[in-house]
Amino acid sequence: MVQPRRHFAQHWLKSEKVLDAIVKAAGCTSDDRILEIGPGTGILTRRLLPLVQSLVAVEIDRDLCQLLAKQLGKKENFLLLQGDFLTLDSPSQLTAFPKFQKQNKVVANIPYNITGPIIEKLLGTISNPNLEPFDSIVLLVQKEVAERLYAKPESRAFGALSVRVQYLADCELICPVPAAAFYPAPKVDSAVVRLRPRQIETPALDPRKLESLIKLGFAAKRKMLRNNLQSTVERDRLTHLLQQLNINPQVRAEDLSVQQWVTLSNQLTVNS
Ligand code: SAH
Repeated sequence: MVQPRRHFAQHWLKSEKVLDAIVKAAGCTSDDRILEIGPGTGILTRRLLPLVQSLVAVEIDRDLCQLLAKQLGKKENFLLLQGDFLTLDSPSQLTAFPKFQKQNKVVANIPYNITGPIIEKLLGTISNPNLEPFDSIVLLVQKEVAERLYAKPESRAFGALSVRVQYLADCELICPVPAAAFYPAPKVDSAVVRLRPRQIETPALDPRKLESLIKLGFAAKRKMLRNNLQSTVERDRLTHLLQQLNINPQVRAEDLSVQQWVTLSNQLTVNS
């Protein structure tokens, strides 16, 4: 057993049941080109490799990379990149390996300490979306983050992350995962989620404005939206606008659906 390193957020998945659920949710076929972030000791990698056309894995830990390379040997459809996924420029790294370019799916049990930045790199942002989106992204994440990803409006978990991610992708819970499914057990429970990038029906006219509205709107969660947005929209004007949109002027940020956020932002753009 390879001893996990805490500073790389290493927790080895040991549950066959969870591995089955991840592989099933990814719906892998022999056409798929997979990206895996943080293969660790390769427990998920080994499951995926026989099913898919190719798999690129990015692992930061040099020792683990050596071990994986040794254990998995030279597999035709496997490419291991050593480095930090967040700073990796994978398109340029992969120019020498045409068959590993343009991955269409992500399947990964990721390091939890960089979940937000990983999701942002995979999806892009509202104002700078990934222009070559993945077909699907199946991730094992911390339970609290999972809940925010698939939260529906008017629920406690529905926050700025929910709106920013759901603007770009449909998000669903695949299954909860107890801490005991890992060695060592993390302090938190986990969940498998699937994100499917898609275009939003009515996009924001000014995506930067929408981003800043979301940030401000959720700044103080218990407050009414019109109070949180006071610095950018005059209270009376916002009250009037919300009424026009058939939205109770006393709403809180978490009560608006993603499409209502866009509509509000677009109204403020058109009438500014
Ligand atoms: N997928 C494995 C390991 C999960 S632990 C399993 O299911 O058992 C998270 C893995 O991500 C570790 O192997 C850790 O070394 C790696 N990791 C941490 N930070 C990383 C980064 N910035 N880029 C790439 N890999 C990283």
